[in-house]
Amino acid sequence: MTVSQNLGDILARIDAARKAAIQPAPATMLVAVSKTVDEAGIREVLDAGQRLFGENRVQEAMSKFPALKNDYPDLELHLIGPLQTNKVKEAAALFDVIQSLDRPRLADALAAEREKSGRCPRLFIQVNTGEEPQKAGVLPAETAALIAQARKLDLPLEGLMCIPPADDDAAPHFAFLAKLARDHGLANLSMGMSGDFELAVKFGATHVRVGTAIFGTRQKTDQPITI
Ligand SMILES: *Cc1c(COP(=O)(O)O)cnc(C)c1O
Repeated sequence: MTVSQNLGDILARIDAARKAAIQPAPATMLVAVSKTVDEAGIREVLDAGQRLFGENRVQEAMSKFPALKNDYPDLELHLIGPLQTNKVKEAAALFDVIQSLDRPRLADALAAEREKSGRCPRLFIQVNTGEEPQKAGVLPAETAALIAQARKLDLPLEGLMCIPPADDDAAPHFAFLAKLARDHGLANLSMGMSGDFELAVKFGATHVRVGTAIFGTRQKTDQPITI
């Protein structure tokens, strides 16, 4: 299978999962996770029509995406990995969406950057639904306060994101995140990866983040989904 065949297959599976779901989101977007994939590999899926991409490292994204965004002005780039406050300026300049807002200090830094440059990507709060000590994301019990802070700062908060623990059944995590978003009036839900995106669609995902199933297997050391 080529990368563009993989892409077609994933899009068809999202579509089928949406048709089978009792209450799918109004739309489900595929975020093609292109971490570790070089520029040529990314161009392959751009040529196949994909426009939404996710990267988990600011530095790596800065090395690939300015040129790609120049060639494909409708390309949309999401940051799906942890963001350090000292990279907020670069991140705000490159990313259209930051899915990994996870602490009060980062919300403050994003508000300060908007003050300075006028730029602020749309935001998702990452929730550490499994309460894993090594994983990024705000704890469930602290999520309401972070949502309130983001709203007080008038940040463009659009949704929630989670990465369930690798060894858990993902379903309760997706259900939990969906309820949390509903309770707080947030429209977007980023959940589901290569192994479980159809399940996430069933629970109302608006964004699924798929890497391996499109681009193939990465080196293990290149999967820093934790801090
Ligand atoms: C790498 C990554 C993905 C994609 O994972 P696959 O299993 O390759 O589909 C999704 N979300 C985040 C946050 C990631 O870091």
